[in-house]
Formats: sequence, C-alpha cells, structure tokens
Amino acid sequence: MVGELFRSVGREHGYENIEARFYPFKEFKSTWCRSGQRAEFRVSDYLKWADDFVLEDFARCLFGRISNRWRREIYTERFRTWLQSDEFILRNRPTYLERSRNLSLSPVGRVLNLCEMRTSLREKGLIEDSSDAFLSWTVSDNVHRVGYCSVIMRVIAVSSVLDTPSIPDYVAEYVLYHEILHLESGHGSFSAGHDREFRAREKLFPKWRDADEWLKRVASKKA
Ligand SMILES: [Zn+2]
Repeated sequence: MVGELFRSVGREHGYENIEARFYPFKEFKSTWCRSGQRAEFRVSDYLKWADDFVLEDFARCLFGRISNRWRREIYTERFRTWLQSDEFILRNRPTYLERSRNLSLSPVGRVLNLCEMRTSLREKGLIEDSSDAFLSWTVSDNVHRVGYCSVIMRVIAVSSVLDTPSIPDYVAEYVLYHEILHLESGHGSFSAGHDREFRAREKLFPKWRDADEWLKRVASKKA
C-alpha cells in the first residue's frame, strides 16, 4: 500500500525501483537510501493512519528532498492539517509514549506535580491553554537535558533531577514553561528553535535569572 503509493510518485521523479515500508521509529521521521534509479524508504509508522492523499503529499515532499531541490521537508497544507489534528494525537501518542522509555508517564513526581505547575503558569498569564499536552517526569535524572518537548505529539518531559526538596519549585516550573513555549511557538512551523521572540517570552518568567543559575549548578552536579 505505502509501497505502491511511493512507487507511483517515484516514477514521476524518474525512479524506477522504489521500495517503501512503515518503520517504528520513536520520533516522527523517515529515512531513505538511494543509488541511481533505486530508492528505499523507511516511513514513520505514525503515518499508517493517514489517508492516501496525505500519504501522497508526504511522498512528494520526500522526493522533493532527495532530488535535492529542497533543503528541508516542506509540508503541504493538507499534510500539516492532518499532522495537527486531534486524530493524529489520539491514534499515535499512546504508541509514542510506549516507545519513550525514559518517561515515568505521570505528571505526579516525588515532590512536585507538573499539572499543578501548568495551572499556575496559566493563572500567571504566562501561557495559553495547553491542557491537551501530556506532561511527564523522566525516569532517569538527566542533568544536561532537563526538559524535552515533542511538538508533534504534544508531549513534554521534565527531568526528575529537579523533583527534589533541595531545589526550589520554580526551577522545574521554569523548565516546564520553556517547553510549553515550544508548543506554542512551534505549532505552525514545527521548528524547535529559540528565536528572539522565544527568548523574550522566556524572560517574562519572574525568576528566570535565578532559575538559570540553578540549572547551571545542576548541570555541573553541584546541586
Ligand atoms: Zn528549548
């Protein structure tokens, strides 16, 4: 099915020998190798729920890239709409969470509750409604990567290293805030960058300077 579709799009691009199959990558991504007229694709299996039109758009987008015409994937409106739909999240997020080995799968930590923090950020007027995002602590105490956000799956993780009485609550809240900003700013572009506007919003957090200091200390394991 996915193979047939890729073959027909591939022919339009001059490829005679195409293979494509779904592959259970954790992140939403696809890979390919190509030699001459032959190309072999591993397509994220999160796409297996997509209809043929969406899948065809995606195939065109990949062939655009492998022909070196585009620097990065440029998604069509139809594809973006599908990727941002509630249905996409509903069908794929459980699988994504299963594949995320380092998540406790709960917002309730030893000391802190990420859902309460989110409510508090909302009440302070710092964030919009992000109640559809799944919040979780990590299992291992990551010190360098203290927060993680999948914009596509709407999943945020905060490192359990911050879930301790010896570090002030606002440090974890600041990390959560940072990741929620990614959700809010990445919705249209799926980019994970920290542009000027992102940095400006980040500094609206009342104790951002102190929180930054704490995070440096945690990273150097002095905390
Ligand atoms: Zn970031």
